[in-house]
Amino acid sequence: MLRFKNLGSGSAGNATLVEARDGLQVSRLLIDCGLRVPELRRRLQAIDLQLSDLQGLFVTHEHSDHVGHARRFAQETGLPLWMSEGTRLACQANEWKLAPDQLRVARDSVTIDLGALELSPFTVPHDAREPLQLRCSDGDRSLGVLTDLGHASSHVIQSLRGCHALLLEANHDRDMLSRSSYPAFLRKRIAGPLGHLSNEDAAALLHAVCHPALSCVVAAHLSERNNSPALAQAAFSDVLGCSADAIPVADPETGSDWHRA
Ligand SMILES: [Zn+2]
Ligand SMILES: [Zn+2]
Repeated sequence: MLRFKNLGSGSAGNATLVEARDGLQVSRLLIDCGLRVPELRRRLQAIDLQLSDLQGLFVTHEHSDHVGHARRFAQETGLPLWMSEGTRLACQANEWKLAPDQLRVARDSVTIDLGALELSPFTVPHDAREPLQLRCSDGDRSLGVLTDLGHASSHVIQSLRGCHALLLEANHDRDMLSRSSYPAFLRKRIAGPLGHLSNEDAAALLHAVCHPALSCVVAAHLSERNNSPALAQAAFSDVLGCSADAIPVADPETGSDWHRA
């Protein structure tokens, strides 16, 4: 059984919990640690979990809303921490004073075995040094976690094929972004090929990987100023042919409910 719960999503800080069960074996991974550790602990306690119930942390890239509190997390928990070599260099993680072997290198298309959970990292086009996003599997069902990318490369689409659930970025509405008070360079960066997915881009990606057994799509990493949950929900529900209300949206403060893949 594979399920996931976003604990907070957006530029203020990202964290997503993925859990797989195989008989008595339970494996839990945290993807990104953009929340302060006391706040992360509080959000875990709200679902009856502790930091010690996790088996590791996967950091997708060095932007602070993803890696911001990973160092403290690693030092407090002693858990293994996966990131790409480029991410390690970009955040100088080799100087974090971690336990030997705590820092592990993740590579595109090289599977990571985490007990009941199998992770398949894949590279994405984003303005970070070597960003990776994740496909997670319990051997039966698969979840694709995908935020922070400027466009859907063929590698991204290939990496998500056949997923039963997706946590998918719907960052901005193009019109809202073009009319926003953001400085021109920032608008250009966000809308560019190494920035973030618009609702329209995300819907096109969803269309490309949609299949009859895709049962759950959560919209994530919404811009609080340049998007609205209703616009993201409308974009996804158009592709999936469901009502807009049926699309869960990961909230910056409350994340999402648990969803099964
Ligand atoms: Zn981000
Ligand atoms: Zn980013």
